[in-house]
Amino acid sequence: MRIFESVLNRAFPYETEKRTERYLALNENPFDFPKEIIDRAFVKELELSNLKIYYDSPDESLIERILDYLGAVFLDRKNVSIGNGADEIIYVTMLMFKRVVFFPPTYSCYKVFAKALGVEFLELPLEDGVYIPDVDVKEGDVVFVPNPNNPTGHLFGSDEIEKLLRKGAFVALDEAYYEFSKVTYLELLNRYDNLAIIRTFSKAFSLAGQRVGYVVSSASFVDAYNRVRLPFNVSYISQLLARLALENYQIFEERINWIMNERERMKENLRSFGYRISDSRGNFVFVYLDANEKNVILQRLSDKGIAVRNFKDGIRISIGLREENEIILNVLGGLRESNKLEGLT
Ligand code: PMP
Repeated sequence: MRIFESVLNRAFPYETEKRTERYLALNENPFDFPKEIIDRAFVKELELSNLKIYYDSPDESLIERILDYLGAVFLDRKNVSIGNGADEIIYVTMLMFKRVVFFPPTYSCYKVFAKALGVEFLELPLEDGVYIPDVDVKEGDVVFVPNPNNPTGHLFGSDEIEKLLRKGAFVALDEAYYEFSKVTYLELLNRYDNLAIIRTFSKAFSLAGQRVGYVVSSASFVDAYNRVRLPFNVSYISQLLARLALENYQIFEERINWIMNERERMKENLRSFGYRISDSRGNFVFVYLDANEKNVILQRLSDKGIAVRNFKDGIRISIGLREENEIILNVLGGLRESNKLEGLT
């Protein structure tokens, strides 16, 4: 039908690698959501009567837990809301501004959503692949910056973020991977009301399938966001699991530390094989590769049932279980080793 033509011309689907046995393409947590929390949630906490009602979203008890977790005295309930994943928060935020700005390489959904919504957007590449370029932004613009960045995982300096804030643009700082970097610019909310911090339960809390994200910002941004988003946007069960995750933070903390150590081990090994990698602080590593080597690696990984995320100039590999990470190291290490031997003969 003609009526769909303009959407089909501008929008493109969010494509992901096909799901495989060992899937390291979407930065999911390698550990299952803890069984003991599920047992508690479904045996002790779940109120059947809450399933048939339009359950509050957000539920006050989840907001309280998030505030405790943030531990910032200058914030209260009016500063926090939730979304159907961080993605919903990003999507809805785009509807509230005149222009969307982002800096590739960056989270691919910024472009996918901007195109789907038909909003005006500006994409300007990061300088040297890592620095926010000097850009003419102003009030009415919303600038999306993941920190740590996705796909490289590197951190931006607070000076780079403040430069954007001082220009009057609204900055949506996407801290989806915060728990793996331990670096947050939450404190900037003290000084700027044109800033929102977006977080998620998908990564550090093993809840990607439950779709829970949250946003922390000025009371007026949160009020506006709550008016534009869908009512009852996050389900009762999703909110319950998110709250219980925060109440059992120690379980996740141990896992987060393991993932961070494993990431550093992967980086060290990949560097020692001679690969160029970014200084990732997320739950993933990025390996820069030329097209030939990349294709060989993708094929060898695929032969072993492993999917990683394919980019123009490299691959992003989520930190998996030890056994999965070992396969990655064996394949990438083995390839450089055999190339070296070939070079010698
Ligand atoms: N922001 C970034 C930077 C991400 O990488 C992702 C997930 N890949 C998201 C947001 C989306 O998170 P959620 O699952 O909460 O929608």
